[in-house]
This record gives sequence, structure tokens and C-alpha cells, in this order.
Amino acid sequence: MRDPEKPANKHFMALPPDRLDRHIVLPEIGGAGQAALARAHVALVGLGGIGSPALQYLAGAGIGMLTLIDDDRVDAGNLQRQTIYKADEVGHLKAELGSVWVREFDLGLETRPVECRITAGNAARLIRGADLVLDGCDNFATRLAVSDACVARGIPLVSAAVGRFQGQVGAFAGHLPDQACYRCFVGDAFDADDCDTCAEDGMLGAMAGWTGAFAAMQAIRVLLAPVGGMGEPQWSKLHLLDGLEPGMRTMTIAKDPECRGCGADVS
Ligand SMILES: [Zn+2]
Repeated sequence: MRDPEKPANKHFMALPPDRLDRHIVLPEIGGAGQAALARAHVALVGLGGIGSPALQYLAGAGIGMLTLIDDDRVDAGNLQRQTIYKADEVGHLKAELGSVWVREFDLGLETRPVECRITAGNAARLIRGADLVLDGCDNFATRLAVSDACVARGIPLVSAAVGRFQGQVGAFAGHLPDQACYRCFVGDAFDADDCDTCAEDGMLGAMAGWTGAFAAMQAIRVLLAPVGGMGEPQWSKLHLLDGLEPGMRTMTIAKDPECRGCGADVS
């Protein structure tokens, strides 16, 4: 019997044969890579400035199952960067609209909209069954809760953030002995709920688009790694995107042996 957490992998049957040709012709993807993407289940946390373009590229890549977690509703001020929403959808739930967007885009994909706030108490349950979590939410407390749940479940995490003209995208596998988790990177100081900054600081919409699209690409890199694909998953690498320069720098996050999320003392 089919695992209900996994996509039905009906993608190839439901689609015209040319839909993913541009992927399959790439030696880094090919038929095996595309089949891996069609089997994959990605949980997206936050359908905002990062989550919207990330969702579009993940759906475009034929990711077979997408869990869409967001408790927020569309606001008019979201529209300059949250690319899946339209003006007449202001006031509606983002998770539900994201699911509708995917359905209209490609009937071969499955979605599970989750219209509740993800917290330390429910995160492990909400991401269950995912092969990867892409977190583009807007606050540290949620990011840390998601990271801890990913470590506990052994699920890779691509964490992305953006503000003004700066973006960050990191790939974490804190469940592995030598790899950092997101908490190793930011420490424990941000568990409080009041660290949101992006609303006050402003953000260029295209900057969120660059960051979200790059986060989707890093997620695809992780999902393809078992079949060769685009090379190493780049665990513990944090890429810093600068929109003003413009340019990108990469740093390596060290695993913190004392980390509350992934350290040796975590039980
Ligand atoms: Zn850690």
C-alpha cells in the first residue's frame, strides 16, 4: 500500500512528455534525477517573499509532494514580493492559496496546506514524512523550532532569510555527526518571539525573489545528491547574497558540540 506521506509519483503519466524536457536533458538531472524529484516531499515553512518564488520553482521542478505551512493571510503590502498572490486574494489564507496555485500550475503534483502556526510543540508533527524542509519564515523563534524538529526527525533543512538587499541561504543536516544545524549558526539568543525585523527594515522584492529561487536551487541540489546530481549537498555552508554589490560570499558553519539542537547531549 502507498505511504500516504509520499507522493503518488503520477507525474510522468499526468503530464505531456515535453514538460520537463529541459531538466531531463541536463546530465546532472536526467531521468533518474527527475524521478527522484517526482518522488520527493518538500515541506515549505512560510509562503512569503522567499516561500512564494521557492514554491514556484519547486513546483516547476516537478517535486511530487509539497506541504505548505503558513497561518498568515495575504496583505496588500505582500504583493511586491510574494509572487503567487494577486490583488483580489488579499485577506485569504496563504497556505490555501499556495495549494490552489500549485493545482492550477500542475495537476500532477500533490499539496497539503497547513493553516496553523508552526511552533516548537507541533513542528516535528507538521514536517513528518518530508525529505527536506525549506524554511523561509520571518522570525527566529520559528526558525529555531523548525531546525530542532529537523534534527530530531533527521530531515535536511534549507533555511533562507532576506532583508533590505541582503539574503542568506544555508543547507543544514545537524542530525549528521559532523554537520551544523541552524541553531549552531545563530545560537540560543533568538528563541524569543520578538526578533522580527523585515517589516521595519524594508525589502526589495527582487531580492526576495533571488533568495527564494536560490533556496529552491539548493533544495533541489540536496534532493538530487543521492543520484549524483549537482554534486555535494553543501551541508553547513551559508551563502550570503548581496544585492547592492552585487555578489555572493560563502561561509562554513562549524558544529557546536554544546548546541541545544544537535549537540552530543541532546536526547
Ligand atoms: Zn546545532
